[in-house]
Amino acid sequence: MKKRTITQGRKAVAKTIARKLGVKASGVRGAKVDRAKVAGEALPFWKRKTLAQMSLREWESLCDGCGKCCVHKLEWEGTTEVVQTNVCCQMLDTHSCQCKDYPNRKAVVPDCIQLTPGVVAEMDWLPATCAYRLVLQGKDLYWWHPLVSGDPETVHEAGVSARDRVISELEIKDHCDHVLDDWM
Ligand code: SF4
Ligand code: SF4
Repeated sequence: MKKRTITQGRKAVAKTIARKLGVKASGVRGAKVDRAKVAGEALPFWKRKTLAQMSLREWESLCDGCGKCCVHKLEWEGTTEVVQTNVCCQMLDTHSCQCKDYPNRKAVVPDCIQLTPGVVAEMDWLPATCAYRLVLQGKDLYWWHPLVSGDPETVHEAGVSARDRVISELEIKDHCDHVLDDWM
């Protein structure tokens, strides 16, 4: 039996995306407004950019901080069946849902995977609510995403994070005792 873990994203930067166009059609003689361009630029970055086009800052802010990618799944040997557990990586803070030492995590968890656009495309076991997965699928973010709500707590308030729902791998004997039938 193998267990898989994946890099938990970094602390989401709560930002309210609000851009004012500030374009006045009158008073600028001869000026032409490219309406399609202006409308496109008014969209938040996750609606107008692919994952690969995002800046590092945008990429990191896209993580909703749910912590669910740091919760172990089991793949039964000899099958392709993957099941969810409530056991998390020893480096996950089970309340904040942040990695306890992200810069140095590999010293403790060498197989922690760094998320990249290519990795997101390959990892079909990322949670369905993961913002990277949603953007890859051309879907919008949910209301509780910190980039939409402006509040990093809404992901927890909406009950879609791992907060206080998981137990460290250091505190269990056997993953098989922690398989869940349902998951957020
Ligand atoms: S080392 Fe940190 S980022 Fe990697 S799986 Fe564990 S908690 Fe998540
Ligand atoms: S599942 Fe996706 S959105 Fe949630 S913490 Fe992991 S990378 Fe971030």
